[in-house]
Amino acid sequence: MGIKDGKIHIIGSSVPAGRKEIDVTGKIIAPGFIDIHTHGDSNHLDKPWCFETALYMLKMGVTTIVGGNCGISIPDVEEYFDYIDKHGHPTNYLGFIGHRTLREKAGHDDLYTECSKDEIEKMKEYLRTQLDKGALGVSFGLEYSPGASFEEVVEVIKVLRDYPNSFFSMHFRYDADRAYEGVEEMIQLCRESGVSLQISHINSGICYGRAEECLKLVEKAIADGLDVAADCYPYNAFATKIGSAVFDEGCLARWGVDYDALLVAEGKYEGKRCTPEIFKDLRRNYPDTYIIAFVMNQDEVVRCLKKPFVMIGSDGCIRNGKGHPRGAGTFPRVLGRLVRMEGELDLMEGIKKMTSMPAKRLSLTNKGKMQEGADADIVVFDYNNVLDRATFEKPSDSPIGIEYVLVNGRVAVEKGEIVQPNSGKALRR
Ligand SMILES: [Zn+2]
Repeated sequence: MGIKDGKIHIIGSSVPAGRKEIDVTGKIIAPGFIDIHTHGDSNHLDKPWCFETALYMLKMGVTTIVGGNCGISIPDVEEYFDYIDKHGHPTNYLGFIGHRTLREKAGHDDLYTECSKDEIEKMKEYLRTQLDKGALGVSFGLEYSPGASFEEVVEVIKVLRDYPNSFFSMHFRYDADRAYEGVEEMIQLCRESGVSLQISHINSGICYGRAEECLKLVEKAIADGLDVAADCYPYNAFATKIGSAVFDEGCLARWGVDYDALLVAEGKYEGKRCTPEIFKDLRRNYPDTYIIAFVMNQDEVVRCLKKPFVMIGSDGCIRNGKGHPRGAGTFPRVLGRLVRMEGELDLMEGIKKMTSMPAKRLSLTNKGKMQEGADADIVVFDYNNVLDRATFEKPSDSPIGIEYVLVNGRVAVEKGEIVQPNSGKALRR
């Protein structure tokens, strides 16, 4: 294969000599992975420019990320795009504008109350300006803003009708025992708005014993002609801030666990399991602390990953090397464990869920495929060796077996190490 000017120039056996040549004998060459669900731009929302999460993504073979998920985004996509235009980014970047960001812009800070008609109009107006500037669509984290009414949400989504290739991503309103209801609401929003829906990290919503029913509901919606897809990460624990509504009264009973199912990922009690005292102290005094919750059924997570409408999305966010291992392990974990060791997924199917499927969702017609003329976003990995090494104890440990990563034709990772951290571009919708 020959690469020129950031594109795949030629594929075949008679490739002319290159300025730089890489021997990939015995390795798999695949399109660079596309992570459709990250928080790569929210390491520190006041200062998203540190790109820490995106650097870990790059080491996993990810060449394009989508940020701004779960309702939480940077305030202005243009500012971020402009910064990337000037300074580059570890990976290519697309970004949602978050529903919560829209609420803040409309002057509504209370997550537990609904917006007025006037505020909804302000949200819609601001959303339009962001879409004009290239935002991918709008993301929701209904579990984090329980006050948002169905009407508010559907009105905001309807704005996307005027913007081709846009869609909405949604972190369900309800999980566990109310998961079915949560999925029903998302599908209803898709149906009423006529806008495509990406269900965010479907595993953390439904894998509490009723996954099959929920998956059937999505399959039925797709059979009815709705454009619904989902993403999923290969872990049975989720992570979020302890101060969020996710940890409101009754959460443990809903998940059927005790305090010790919660692991503190950073700060004062880092590495400790929660006790009622630790939980109370963190909720009250350190609400931004990341907590990892071991609450899902692993066999149901695998069931989700195998569904044809589900793609891989890490939901990754790493701050100062701390967080959930999904931010540094997701893609090699799927390839090494689910595909190679456990045989749950076929290799081509696994790769498809990381490349052509998200590319199609994002309308990236030049990515996610190995073809002459396509963007030279490429990953080279050793199939016999590839594996995640990030653990809940060491969440940012680098994977093995990801040998080379090329972003826009430039070598970004060589023998597993980052050599070029800024070849990525801002991709405006
Ligand atoms: Zn989420």
